[in-house]
Amino acid sequence: MTEQTVQKVNLLGMGMPALEAFFVDRLGEKKFRAVQVMKWIHQHGVDNFDDMTDISKVTRAKLKEYAEIVAPEVISMKDSKDGTRKWVMKMPGGSAIETVLIPEDDRGTLCVSSQIGCALDCSFCSTGKQGFNRDLSAAEIIGQVWIAVRSFDKPGEKRQRRVTNVVMMGMGEPLLNFDNVVEAMGLMMDDNSYGLSKRRVTLSTSGVVPAIYELAKVTDVALALSLHAPNDALRNTLVPVNRKYNIQSALDACNHYMSRFSEKRVTTIEYTLMNEINDKPEHAHELVEVLRNTPCKINLIPFNPFPNSGYERPSNNRMHRFRDILLAGGYNVTIRKTRGDDIDAACGQLVGEVTDKTRRSDRFIEAVELGRTAAEIASTRRQRTVV
Ligand code: SAH
Ligand code: SF4
Repeated sequence: MTEQTVQKVNLLGMGMPALEAFFVDRLGEKKFRAVQVMKWIHQHGVDNFDDMTDISKVTRAKLKEYAEIVAPEVISMKDSKDGTRKWVMKMPGGSAIETVLIPEDDRGTLCVSSQIGCALDCSFCSTGKQGFNRDLSAAEIIGQVWIAVRSFDKPGEKRQRRVTNVVMMGMGEPLLNFDNVVEAMGLMMDDNSYGLSKRRVTLSTSGVVPAIYELAKVTDVALALSLHAPNDALRNTLVPVNRKYNIQSALDACNHYMSRFSEKRVTTIEYTLMNEINDKPEHAHELVEVLRNTPCKINLIPFNPFPNSGYERPSNNRMHRFRDILLAGGYNVTIRKTRGDDIDAACGQLVGEVTDKTRRSDRFIEAVELGRTAAEIASTRRQRTVV
C-alpha cells in the first residue's frame, strides 16, 4: 500500500456548521467539540491543540493529525502617532495585504482586506491600480481579526484597542469573493467566536449588483455602497463597474437589502471627495436628488493621495460646502476623519504588494465578467479555497 500524506484542514476559517461537520464526519467526534475548539481559537487566540486543556489527549492527537490552525504571516506591525495600527501580512505566493485598526474613544474599527489587489480598477484607488492577484481564503480573512485581537498583549491595551467593529474596506471587492467573505463575517458575529453584532460588521461594495441580492439571502451585516458620483457619466469614469451596473440598479439593490428588516436600517453611502472632480456644489445638489428614495447616511471621505494618482484632496472649505448642501437636503452626513497618515494606513492607500495576474487592458473585461458570475458563484456555493 502506498503511504498517503493527509492534507490537513485549516480550522481557522471554518464557521460553526463547517466545524461541526468536521468533528462529526471526519473525526467521529461529538458536535459540541466544535464549540470548544472555536472558543479556543477565536476567544483565546490559541493555535496549538495542546493548549486546549479541556479536550482529551486522544482527541487532541486526532486533531493534530487531521487539522491545523494557520493564520497569515505578519511581516510588519506599525503604530501611528494617532494610535492607528497597521499590519502588513505576507500571503503564500509572495504577495502581501494590509489590515488597519483605527481606535476611537470607546471603539476600535478593524479594516479588513478580502482580496490580494482588486480587479475593479477604480481610478482613484491605489489597490485598484495594482491589479488583481487572488481571493483570500476565509482563514486569511478572519485571520486578520485573529491577529489584531491577539496583538493587544500589553497591560491595558486590550481594553483600549479592542476590536469592536469590522469594516470590509481594506484591499479588494468583498462581493467578488462572496463565499469566503460570508463565511468569515459569520465567524465575526458568532457568539462562540468574536460575537460582534450585525450592526458592527460592515461590507463595503463598489456595487456588484447581483451579489448584493445574493447577500440579502445569507446575511444581515451592515451595507455600504461606494458611490463617489451623482450621475452615471461621471461614475463610469471613476468606478468602471458602473458601466455594467449603474447607479439606479445599485441603489435598488441596497434598498432591497434593507427592506428585509423590520427595524430601521439604512445604507451607508461612501463618497470620496476629489478636488474639482466630484466635489462641486452642482454635484452635491444632484446627489440630494439621486438619493431621495434611498434611506441612507452619507460618509464623505477626503481623497487620500498616493504617488501619481492624478487626484487631489479638496480644501476643507470645499468639503464643508459640499457637506452643508447635503445637510440642507435633509441627510445625515459625516466627513471621515483621516487617520494613520504617517503610516500610509488611510482608505485607498493600502498597497500591500501585489503581483498582478491580470493584464491591465483585460482588467475591466474581467471585472465585468466577475460581476456577472458573482451571482452564479454565490448560488452554486463554489468550493472555498482553504489555505
Ligand atoms: N472594494 C470595496 C471596499 C474597499 S475600498 C469598495 O470599493 O467599496 C473602501 C473605500 O475606500 C471605498 O469607498 C473606496 O472607494 C474608498 N477609496 C478608495 N481609494 C480611495 C482614496 N484614494 N481616497 C479615499 N478613499 C478611497
Ligand atoms: Fe477595488 Fe474598492 Fe479600490 Fe474600487 S475602490 S478598485 S472596488 S478596492
